[in-house]
Amino acid sequence: MPPSLPNSTAQRDIETLIHPYTNLKVHQDTGPLVISRGEGVRVFGEDGTPYIEAMAGLWCTSLGWSEKRLVTAATEAMSRLPFYHSFTHKVPDVTVDLAERLLALAPVKMGKVFFANSGSEAVDTALKLVWYINNARGKPLKKKVIAREKAYHGVTIASASLTGLPACQNDFDLPIPGVLRTGCPHYYRFGQEGESEQEFATRRADELEQLILSEGPDTIAAMFAEPVMGAGGVIVPPATYFEKIQAVLKKYDILLIADEVICGFGRTGNMWGSQTYDLKPDMMTMAKALSSAYMPISALMVSDEIFADMVKQSEKLGVFGHGYTYGGHPVACAVALETLKIYEERDIVSTVQDISPAFQTGLAAFKSHPLVGEVRGVGLVAAVELVKNKTTRESFDPKLGVGMKCAKFLQNNGVIGRAMGDSLAFSPPLIISRDEIAEMLAGFAKALDQTLEWLQVEGHF
Ligand code: PMP
Repeated sequence: MPPSLPNSTAQRDIETLIHPYTNLKVHQDTGPLVISRGEGVRVFGEDGTPYIEAMAGLWCTSLGWSEKRLVTAATEAMSRLPFYHSFTHKVPDVTVDLAERLLALAPVKMGKVFFANSGSEAVDTALKLVWYINNARGKPLKKKVIAREKAYHGVTIASASLTGLPACQNDFDLPIPGVLRTGCPHYYRFGQEGESEQEFATRRADELEQLILSEGPDTIAAMFAEPVMGAGGVIVPPATYFEKIQAVLKKYDILLIADEVICGFGRTGNMWGSQTYDLKPDMMTMAKALSSAYMPISALMVSDEIFADMVKQSEKLGVFGHGYTYGGHPVACAVALETLKIYEERDIVSTVQDISPAFQTGLAAFKSHPLVGEVRGVGLVAAVELVKNKTTRESFDPKLGVGMKCAKFLQNNGVIGRAMGDSLAFSPPLIISRDEIAEMLAGFAKALDQTLEWLQVEGHF
């Protein structure tokens, strides 16, 4: 529906904004859903309509929209020291506090923390460091990096090159050279007939090894991996996958970089996705729930060995020539520090473990719906994949936009989810209650039936 009033926010949006991850042509006709405030797990449209934000925004607003302590932390930090940087041997005090806290939380022993402002920047930094330390190590040819089909690591030039989704690269003249692609660990989609999950994981690890051997192990520096792939469709790794992948990486002296931007801080039922799937990363990226998204902040943690080589190289060059003006911003760090305090005080990990069965079993019940091919998830993140044929797993013609249609019905039922192809993702604030989960599920049940009815009326089902 085109926005009606000439001076409405929606109309002014159409006239002024470029929207990320949006069909720009469609948007010119439809305009945006304008959100004006939030409360608990809900956001409210300009006209006052409430929505359960079942994606926590972009997998990030872990404490919901009413956490006054974060407002206070921001206000106090803003009045005390609204800005200072960490360049040239200086630092805001609170930035040190946060680094110390993060190192104490790390799932494996980490050496140091570097702050940035977005997940993409943290991933870019990780890639630059991979190159930097291999120069320090006298291995200038060991520079290629591996990422997976359907990976999501961001949209800057380097991180979009690691991202394994065509829309992020096509016609942006990406990827940059030196990024190798390995298979997606989605058993439902890519497992072969008669193949067990474990066998599928073995096949993926064998493929990885073949890729490494064909490229030359001495040319490959690192692999990037999300413990649970998020924007690629909430892909939970099959049993034994990371154990086998890590054995291959170790064999060829290839670093593992865990991208914890979505999984970090409780999402999967442990503090880190790396704990849920037993990853032993050499570097870790994090963002989003680090500040419950109340302020933009991201971080990269690196092992002691990596930091030692960075020191060596910067000594040779005179300076470690990398850093963002706003990296370690004192207001963002104060908010993140308070967020971590809240996670600890409220034992966010136990909270997620406690509530997630209601969420996962509630969604799993939709497996019997005629449109649902797979329900997958862990902790408080999940996706429901819609298919044309449950037996053959045949997908709908992408041109029909079945996932988008279902997400639209869902929104009209007062729940915001996210369509990724024909998979509907849910990643609610970690503070969601049982009643709110029930409300979310009821809205989704209705949306599924409405989608089915629409498909039948249009003659596609
Ligand atoms: N890595 C992962 C795993 C992500 O999910 C995202 C964002 N969804 C990013 C990196 C990029 O983060 P940002 O959008 O903050 O640049």
